[in-house]
Amino acid sequence: MVALVPIRKPARGIPRPLRPNLRGLTRIQLETFVTSKLGAPRFRADQIFEWVHRHRASDVHEMTNLPKPLRSLIDEHADLRRLERHGDFVARDGTRKLRLRTLDGHYIESVLIPNDQRGFTLCVSSQVGCSMTCRFCATASLTFERSLAAWEIVDQIEQAQDLLEQASQREGRDHGRSDDPESWPYRLSNVVYMGMGEPLHNFIPVKASVEIVTDPKGAAITARRITISTSGLVPAIERFSRDPLSAQVGLAVSLNATTDDVRDDVMPINLKWPLLALLNAVRALPDARRRDLTFEYVLLSEVNDFEDDAHRLADLVREFDCHINVIPFNPHPHAPYKRPSSNRVRRFMDVAKRRGLRVYLRTPRGDDIGAACGQLALEGESGQAPAAPLEEGRTT
Ligand code: SF4
Repeated sequence: MVALVPIRKPARGIPRPLRPNLRGLTRIQLETFVTSKLGAPRFRADQIFEWVHRHRASDVHEMTNLPKPLRSLIDEHADLRRLERHGDFVARDGTRKLRLRTLDGHYIESVLIPNDQRGFTLCVSSQVGCSMTCRFCATASLTFERSLAAWEIVDQIEQAQDLLEQASQREGRDHGRSDDPESWPYRLSNVVYMGMGEPLHNFIPVKASVEIVTDPKGAAITARRITISTSGLVPAIERFSRDPLSAQVGLAVSLNATTDDVRDDVMPINLKWPLLALLNAVRALPDARRRDLTFEYVLLSEVNDFEDDAHRLADLVREFDCHINVIPFNPHPHAPYKRPSSNRVRRFMDVAKRRGLRVYLRTPRGDDIGAACGQLALEGESGQAPAAPLEEGRTT
C-alpha cells in the first residue's frame, strides 16, 4: 500500500505574465527575447542584463545607452517591476528580516545574517508557504500558495544587495572609500536557499535564479557560495544530481532524525521517502558534490537529541565527507517541541565529535524577530537596530 503523505497540493502555479519580467531571464534567454521578440541585435541583451542586474533598473528609461525605439519596445513587451518592500525587522544581533510583497499580493520573507565584519549571508525563499509540513517549521503553518518565479527569487537577492550597497556607500562617504564594490565595507558573501519553501520543489526557477545571480555580467556571486537545501524530496535530489547545477552549488539535506519512526513524525515526507531512500539518493550525487555536502540536524529536546541519536547519526553519514550543522530548535507557537538544554546539546555534540563527525553548532540568529531557522511565518516584531550602518533605511 502506498503511504499517505500529508503534502498539501499547490493552490495555484506560478502566474504566467504576458510580459516576461526581465529580472527572471538568464542571459541566454534574454538574448533570445531581444533578438526574436524585439528584433534587436544580440549585444543589446548584454547591455540590458547589466542594467537590470548591475544597476538594478526598474524603469526602462534608466537604460540611457539604448536607443529610444528599443526602450519603447521593451516597455511594451517586458516587465521590470520589483517586489515591494513591506516590512523590515532588525534583530539585536544585527540579523535583518525583509518582508516582501509579490505583485499578486502574497508575502514572503528573506533574512540577511551578518557572518563576519563585512560579509552577510542571505537566506532566500523559493515558494509562498510550503507544502512539506515539517513539524518543527513555522512556515509549514502557512497555506502553500505557489512557487516563486525566477525573478522573484533573484529580486530577493538584489534587494539585499541594494541594502548592503547603500550602507557601504554611506560608509564609503564617511571614510573616503571609492565607489568600487570590491572595496565596499558590506558585501553579500553567501546565499542559502533555506527560507520559505522547498527549493527542489521549484527546481527550474531556482536553477534559473542561480544562473542569473552568478552571471559575471550581473551580481557575479560565486556559485560555490550558494547552497540549496532540501527536506528530502528523493526524486528531486536524483534530478538535481543529474543536473550540471549540482557541480556548482552546495546541497544541504535536512535530516533531523536518525530513525524512520522519529523522522516520520518530525518530517512527514519521510513516510514517502524514508531514510534509506534519502541516503541512497544522496549517494548518487557526483563525487565532487558529495565532498561539499551538508546535513542539517535541528535538535529537538527529548525527541532526537539523545546520545544514541548522535551514535546513529555517525553510523548514517560517516561514509559521506560531509559537514553537519546542529541547530538547537528555535521555539515558535506552531511546533510542539522544546529547545534542548545546553547540557543535552553539549552531550550530543561531544558524542558526534568523538565519532569523527565534522559537526558545527549553529547558534540562533535573529530569533527575537522570528527570523531564525524554522521561524519564518510572516510574524515577528521589529527589534532594536544593530549598532551598524545598516540601521539606516529601516522601514519598521
Ligand atoms: S523546513 Fe523547509 S521544507 Fe520543511 S516545511 Fe519548513 S520551509 Fe518547508
